[in-house]
Amino acid sequence: MSLTSLVFIKQVPDTKNITGEAMKPDGTVNRGALAAIFNPEDLNALEMALDLKERFGGKVVVCTMGPQAAATVLRHSLYMGADEAILLTDRKFAGADTLATSYALSLAAKKLGNVDLVLCGRQAIDGDTAQVGPQVAEKLGIPQLTYVEAVIFAEKTKITARSLIDGGYEIAECPLPALFTVVSSANTPRPAGARRLMQYKKAVTRTELLASHAGATYEDAGALAAEEKRLRSRGLWIHEWSAADVGADEGRIGFAGSPTKVKNVASVVIAGADYKDILPTREGIASLVQELNADHVFV
Ligand SMILES: Cc1cc2nc3c(=O)[nH]c(=O)nc-3n(C[C@H](O)[C@H](O)[C@H](O)COP(=O)(O)OP(=O)(O)OC[C@H]3O[C@@H](n4cnc5c(N)ncnc54)[C@H](O)[C@@H]3O)c2cc1C
Repeated sequence: MSLTSLVFIKQVPDTKNITGEAMKPDGTVNRGALAAIFNPEDLNALEMALDLKERFGGKVVVCTMGPQAAATVLRHSLYMGADEAILLTDRKFAGADTLATSYALSLAAKKLGNVDLVLCGRQAIDGDTAQVGPQVAEKLGIPQLTYVEAVIFAEKTKITARSLIDGGYEIAECPLPALFTVVSSANTPRPAGARRLMQYKKAVTRTELLASHAGATYEDAGALAAEEKRLRSRGLWIHEWSAADVGADEGRIGFAGSPTKVKNVASVVIAGADYKDILPTREGIASLVQELNADHVFV
């Protein structure tokens, strides 16, 4: 048996290491002031896919929608063990909300084809909505398991996994193809392999290849094509897909396809209210219940 896993990964601003200039005066995120990192739970999703490949065979493809700089997280995935990487990039994708993002990602999954399992992180640490994974599953018309912690068993047509639920876990079997969103408690993502790092640091997108040959003339076109062929044959080619490449309806991507507009982002600090000591005695508890009743906290 062999499973083809497609892992959606996102490059995000490091919201855990915020500097004073993290927000612009207009309330939007100042992405330039924050380091760009691999969305943490996407590393867990990738680790789960790599583990599945080791247990059941198959391959792991990673895909991100973002600017050229996002090729960095794709290369990191190759260092960890991914087999192929896709950068979904086009100015037309910019400004996407979760609806437009999931539409674009679902088209990438369809273009890739023959995917058994789609894996996403549970949530991205910048947008924080946790909507993209479930929306991609809806758009692909496949079942989804969210908050997945472990794959117990997989066959070609079905998979059994353990998911976190309130106060415990549940084990569910679902037919393949399916989509999982993966939580941080699932595993410890492996570090980049030193040998793979030396090999795949040379992996490039078409745009990066052209930029590294800046000033190339028309006569160099043949040389560039030969270089592309060489990189492809060695697995050092990061596929670059535009909106047209995935057949996107331009009214459903980027700003045009996004009904959500973030008007303002505020940093809310919840100030401490009245502080009261309640003694752990019968009388103490009775007075607390009385007070909560009087405040209509209990209805
Ligand atoms: C402060 C802020 C507030 C926002 N509020 C909203 C809002 O209320 N409603 C709304 O619709 N949008 C909102 N957005 C936009 C939202 O961040 C983007 O749509 C984003 O691309 C996807 O949503 P998310 O980051 O919440 O992803 P999540 O749904 O949290 O991401 C879940 C998983 O989906 C995958 N994924 C997500 N984005 C990508 C990508 N670009 N490429 C590959 N895989 C990906 C990853 O596996 C990720 O772990 C907001 C953005 C910001 C910065």
